[in-house]
Amino acid sequence: MTANAGSEVDFDVVVVGAGVAGCVSAFQLATAGRSVLLVERGPEPGSKALSGGVFYCRVMEQVFPGFAERAPVERVITRNCLSFLNPDSFVNIDYGDQRLSSPVNAVSVLRAKLEAWLAEQCETARAVVMPGFRVDRLLLEDGRVCGIGAGEDELRCKVVVAADGVNSFVARDAGLRTKDPANQLAVGVKSVIGLDRGVIEERFNLEGDQGAAYAVVGDCTKGVGGGGFMYTNLESVSIGVVLRLDDLAKRGEVASDLHDRFLGHRFIAPFLKGGELLEYGAHLVAEGGQAMVRDLVKPGLVVVGEAAGLALNTGLTVRGMDLAAGSAIAAARAVDAALEADDFSPGVLKEYESSLRAGFVGRDMETFRAAPAFLEGTRMFNDYGPLLADVFHGVYNLDLEPRRHLARTAWDAFKTSPLKLSDLVQDGWKALRAL
Ligand SMILES: Cc1cc2nc3c(=O)[nH]c(=O)nc-3n(C[C@H](O)[C@H](O)[C@H](O)COP(=O)(O)OP(=O)(O)OC[C@H]3O[C@@H](n4cnc5c(N)ncnc54)[C@H](O)[C@@H]3O)c2cc1C
Repeated sequence: MTANAGSEVDFDVVVVGAGVAGCVSAFQLATAGRSVLLVERGPEPGSKALSGGVFYCRVMEQVFPGFAERAPVERVITRNCLSFLNPDSFVNIDYGDQRLSSPVNAVSVLRAKLEAWLAEQCETARAVVMPGFRVDRLLLEDGRVCGIGAGEDELRCKVVVAADGVNSFVARDAGLRTKDPANQLAVGVKSVIGLDRGVIEERFNLEGDQGAAYAVVGDCTKGVGGGGFMYTNLESVSIGVVLRLDDLAKRGEVASDLHDRFLGHRFIAPFLKGGELLEYGAHLVAEGGQAMVRDLVKPGLVVVGEAAGLALNTGLTVRGMDLAAGSAIAAARAVDAALEADDFSPGVLKEYESSLRAGFVGRDMETFRAAPAFLEGTRMFNDYGPLLADVFHGVYNLDLEPRRHLARTAWDAFKTSPLKLSDLVQDGWKALRAL
């Protein structure tokens, strides 16, 4: 299909949504010399975005060399802690490594600051950024998307990039997505708690601008599928829970109550003591992994980021922003080639899907295809934390009874847990394959 409205268009490309995916797409296309409009429904780019906040940011180096130094990032994450939390105990696997800081592997970010900077880069590259503009329909011509509408306003373009996040209205309007089932969605409730820089460094055992990221399972969600997170920023801590919608409803729990309970947990509250609530919000997150990714292209339209279902929760890491950036880079290349060829048919735009599949985004989605099913199992959230704590209790609780070897201690703890040997073997095997 060949563009028939070349001279009538307002822009080559309209990008819907100024999150990471939208900003990276707009920047890449504007840098390639295309006329780009980036629209955002929020009053500012980033004002509606919510994320735990650890950005595995090496992909951003491809777009903004020196990203970790130039962008308004908070801390460089050099400590990753997996925490099994129980009502009266916890077991942490605490991994610190200086290699994660050079080159920078991950940073903590606050989205309002990050997206403001990204939008600035887009403007410097001559993209037009228009906040406060909520797209409510796609314009179609002969089955091809040729613009967007918002109330009385209509804008015509050659290609629309849908970067409007997990609930993507644009992808739905184009017939590329349907309503996602509740087991593929989670709700995240998050607070940002302000604390003095020195207090954060002392409490989290950090030096300078280095940071820590905690992934928490167990009592943080009262056994609901999902987990808690706690990430250090320069002068605040981002903390919250991510809860699978189906399990939340099944157990009759309320997301905001579980969030409050987590922050008040006896092993969590001391990290936050004396802090001031700076931000509070809730947002959906795609948890279905590869199963959520469908067709990403239609004549005149490409879908990127979480609008395309690109997010991964493995229990150890939550990733969405790096996948958003990776998909945006692939999409921008394909859109640029389509503009060059003046051909916006799926045949040309499909290059986006092929390069996405071949790159780290598609391959990681495929590698962790089984993670959502593994994380649906409730044993992970209910049983393993207490078992680990019992093993350590057996090791450290010197009750004047004769000591036993670790294997015996572990076996005794196992016998009193609700777990069966077949569960251990099955879960261990599934974890190795899924994660
Ligand atoms: C609680 C929580 C914790 C998370 N933790 C992490 C983490 O630690 N690390 C990580 O990498 N990922 C994390 N994620 C996932 C990550 O936030 C998302 O995957 C990522 O934000 C997706 O980026 P995006 O640009 O595709 O979409 P978004 O960031 O959602 O941006 C979409 C933008 O489109 C705008 N928009 C929507 N509809 C319209 C419309 N009709 N018109 C105009 N504009 C519109 C929105 O306002 C928004 O600004 C987390 C998510 C949640 C909810």
